[in-house]
Formats: sequence, C-alpha cells, structure tokens
Amino acid sequence: MNIFEKIYCRIFQFCFKVAIPFLPYRNPVILDNVESISQILKEKHAEKVLIVVDSNIEKLKLNYNLEKTLTDNNILFFKYDKIFSDPTINNVEEAKNLYIENKCQAIIGFGGGSAIDCAKAVGARIARPNLSIPKMAGILKILKEIPLLIAIPTTAGTGSETTVATLITDSETKRKYMIGDFPLIPKYAILDAENIKTLPQNITAFVGIDVLVHAIEAYIGNSTTKKTREQSLQAVSLVYKNLYDTYLDGNNLEKRRNMLQASYLAGCAFTISYVGYCHAIAHTIGGMYHVPHGLANAIIIPYVLEAYGEKIYKKLKELGVAAGLFDENINQEQGAKIFIESIKDLNSKMGIGTKIDAIKKEDINEIVKNALKEGNPVYPVPVLMGKKELSLIVEKLMK
Ligand SMILES: [Zn+2]
Repeated sequence: MNIFEKIYCRIFQFCFKVAIPFLPYRNPVILDNVESISQILKEKHAEKVLIVVDSNIEKLKLNYNLEKTLTDNNILFFKYDKIFSDPTINNVEEAKNLYIENKCQAIIGFGGGSAIDCAKAVGARIARPNLSIPKMAGILKILKEIPLLIAIPTTAGTGSETTVATLITDSETKRKYMIGDFPLIPKYAILDAENIKTLPQNITAFVGIDVLVHAIEAYIGNSTTKKTREQSLQAVSLVYKNLYDTYLDGNNLEKRRNMLQASYLAGCAFTISYVGYCHAIAHTIGGMYHVPHGLANAIIIPYVLEAYGEKIYKKLKELGVAAGLFDENINQEQGAKIFIESIKDLNSKMGIGTKIDAIKKEDINEIVKNALKEGNPVYPVPVLMGKKELSLIVEKLMK
C-alpha cells in the first residue's frame, strides 16, 4: 500500500471515529427468556409475525419453545426456514413475500447470524421496497424505520443481535453485499440459554472463537472508545472462563449463558469499533468455499495477529491479562506471544486445525482483492496492509 492510500484510509477512519458520539447507535433491549416475547408483541399490537429460522436450527427443533409460546398466546406465526448457510438474496425475497402475503406486523430472527441477518434484510426490503439488496449495499442507505425486529440468537457467536450490519450473498455470482444502517439494530434481543444447550460441539467451538475474534479485532483497532475497550476485555475474560467448558458439556446452562453474554458484549464492541483483516479474509473465504465463518476466523486470527507484529504487543498483553493468562507485570512482547499461543491451544483442544485446505493457489489474487475491498478504508486496523501483506497471510493458510 502506498503512502497516499495509507493517508486516505487513516483520514476516512479518523472521520468515522470523530463521528461516533453523534451517530444513533443504540443497544437492543435484552430479555432472558423466550416466553417474554408474547408480552412485547401484545404491547406492540402485533398479532401476526414472521419467524425467520435457519434450516439446521429448525431440524434441531430449537424453536419449539418460541412457537409454543406464540401459539399459547394466540399470536399467529408464519415461518421461513429455507436458509441453509449464508442468507441469499432469494432467501430475503421469499421471506419478504411471506411477510407481505400474510400481513405480518413483526419479524423474529431465530438462529445463528444467518437467520438474524436475513431477518434484518427482510425488514430493510419492507421499509424500502424500491431498493434491491445490491442497491442497499454499503452504509446508511435505508434511513427509515423497519418493522419491529426481535433477534433470538441460538449460537452465542455472531453478535448479529446487536449490530447495524447484515451480510447477504448473491447465490449466482457468490458476491456478498454488506448493508449497514442504524434501523437494522434489532429492538429486542432474547438471550435464552435454553435455546442453545443442544448446539453441536463443533458449532459451539466455531462460534465461540468467533466471539473471541470480534472482541480482539475491536480492541486492537484504532477506533475504540472506553466503553468498547471494556466490553472487549469482559468478552475475552468470559470466553476464556466458559468456552472450553461449554464445548465439553453443552448442558451447562450457566456457562452457556455466560457465552451468550460474551457474544453480546463483543457484538456491541465491534458494532462501534469494527473488526479487521481477519474478518475481511474470513468473509471472502467463507463466500468462495463455504467454510463456516467462525472456523475460518479461528484458523486465520493467529496469522493476522502475528503479521501485525509489535504494534499490537501492548494491547495483546492487556487481552492476555483479561484472559487470566498472566498478570500485568509481564513484558509486552512476551505477553502478546503467550496470548497468541493460547488461541492456538484453544483451537487445537477443540479440534480446529491450522490450515484451510479448500484454498486454491489460483484463487489467492481474488481472495486478497475482495478482502482488501472489504477492509480498506473502513476497518480501523492497527497496521494497514496491502496486496503483498495479505497475500503472505493467505499463503500461510494453505497446506
Ligand atoms: Zn465474526
């Protein structure tokens, strides 16, 4: 990256940082059990609702309690359950049509990031019927209230319940469209550990490490605030105290609850302080080869942190203290290295490897191009990177 590109990126990021206190960020109202949803819907006079649920979650019947509560309270629901991995434009259009045909009055996103992202995009399409998904891509294109949106995360990972963003894929071109605007922040988020106790072990691991990566990338970036730094530190501490135990015993509701809390805190932090190149590469690889988002992030993060080098030693040491790995008297470089090694250890204990086999040599240029397009100038990364640096990271990810 040349000096003029670097200056452009930093000025862009500086303007966003200065604007943070003036932007209409808000956090969703948090509730801790699914049963409370009927009360909210009644207060808002919503008698017909659309549920957007991941197909896998539907198979696991995790939405049983939600549907029972709605039925018991005479709230009619219509269910869209055709999301198989990343939500596509077709998913959004089909779910939107279901909402309109049945004159629904609220949207419930139930599941992982995919279902909640799809629910957000449905809301956006209803608020802006004349704007297609590709036309909404980017930031601040909606600028209008969307229908009542309630997010019920079931994976304790994506943080999508707190964020302004949604990521929708065009299934034909494989292109991903990021839409970011304040009306997309759900009004309510229900963090109910009962919903996630049957989550399979590997998914628990992937989404748990994703939480950690959200917290790390938000913390080491240049656009942090006192609050997002605190939220990141708390999230890291919760992940180190709870993730591996949850992986070993999914029925431990207290640990599951703590991971939901970590996911929420990390989500709040990165909504304001952004993520970094790890996510930019993971999104691209996820879109090209269908590698689960959390798995991609888990494998990529140590390489990205090592590539940032000494610029982030101090912050990584602070994260290591929050993780309980050592006390603050440790030397910065040593602390940073122990923290990176601890992520590798956690990955390995949970069966996560160190390479992404799917990456093809001939695709490196495309991966790097798309990752740079996502990362620069928006992500306030600690060290700006260009084609050369990102290519080196992607090469290391290959077998
Ligand atoms: Zn993520």
